[in-house]
Amino acid sequence: MGKYDAPRVLVTGGAGFLGSFLCERLLKDGNEVICVDNFYTGRRDNIAHLLAQSRFEVIRHDITFPLYVEIDQIYNLACPASPVHYQRDPVQTTKTSVHGAINMLGLAKRTGAKILQASTSEVYGDPHIHPQRESYWGNVNPIGPRGCYDEGKRCAETLFFDYHRQHELRIKVARIFNTYGPRMHHNDGRVVSNFIVQALRGEPITIYGSGVQTRSFCYVDDLIDGLVRLMNTPDGLTGPLNLGNPVETSVHELAEQIIRLSGSVSQINYRPLPQDDPVRRRPDISLAADALRWSPAISLTVGLTRTIEYFRHHPAIRAYAKRSTVAAQ
Ligand code: NAD
Ligand code: UDP
Repeated sequence: MGKYDAPRVLVTGGAGFLGSFLCERLLKDGNEVICVDNFYTGRRDNIAHLLAQSRFEVIRHDITFPLYVEIDQIYNLACPASPVHYQRDPVQTTKTSVHGAINMLGLAKRTGAKILQASTSEVYGDPHIHPQRESYWGNVNPIGPRGCYDEGKRCAETLFFDYHRQHELRIKVARIFNTYGPRMHHNDGRVVSNFIVQALRGEPITIYGSGVQTRSFCYVDDLIDGLVRLMNTPDGLTGPLNLGNPVETSVHELAEQIIRLSGSVSQINYRPLPQDDPVRRRPDISLAADALRWSPAISLTVGLTRTIEYFRHHPAIRAYAKRSTVAAQ
């Protein structure tokens, strides 16, 4: 326990998109929160509103190096998540997943902390089974451009289960499917942020391929609730557990919905499909529904509306609108 007799929780990647919402939620629940981040894709802005809280602490640290803190729980979220970011320095991406997991598991072993891994639907690769169940072993190209992320996350899962079997660590593994919401990086290339930024700027919406590929989009609040519930399950429940929204949407439908909800005049522009881009993705969440009594509550329309409102007031959009007005004068 921390100095306030509340659990002391470490969140790696706490200044990132999901991490910042998780820190916020854990503080609200009364925990002491230590946010560790090397600010590779995370931003101080994401956590600026939390800095005044006495139960919140930030450490600039790269988890590929050992960390010595006293904690009760670890949420291991550190890792760039968007293809553009994780492919920029693929060796560092693998190191973050693998060396980072070893360091955080070592920390959990020394302190006796419970540890949760933010794994991903990418462990299923371009899946042959639809919807994806946890029992499916996946179809991943180990040497392709997504391999650094997919195989890094798969190896991290292996490490979690080996530490559990060999050292009796208390582990939880969440396989997170595409999640979106405010505080996504405006420039991270992920489909929701890309389309919203393009729609608000009136620029062409870039669909890769024909847009028939599908994803299932979960709003951030639902996802964070799932993570916290999973951490608080009895020790016997390790996962892996799918967390995501089972409503499947094609990239084309997503583009049309964002154009409509934002009142945009943007046209659609088709670009080549990146290598190894998964064709279909939808979680089977029956395990999470049973074990956590959890299912997403926020519809795509409501979630997208909130995210569009966030980006409407984002400096990157405001600065662009100002430049366009000046240019037109
Ligand atoms: P993000 O890029 O916004 O956040 C990742 C955070 O980790 C950033 O703050 C970054 O600076 C930090 N980080 C990266 N490498 C680090 C290192 N070596 N040491 C310390 N900090 C480091 O991404 P996100 O969407 O918030 O994703 C968070 C986690 O959830 C990731 O592990 C990701 O793989 C997983 N996940 C996310 C999604 C999604 O749709 N958002 C889906 C599946 C899995
Ligand atoms: N995508 C797209 N246009 C963009 C960005 C992404 O059509 O501007 C597609 C991408 O090819 C993929 C889907 O949207 O099929 C989701 O991409 P994202 O990078 O968000 O996540 P991931 O592929 O990791 O699920």
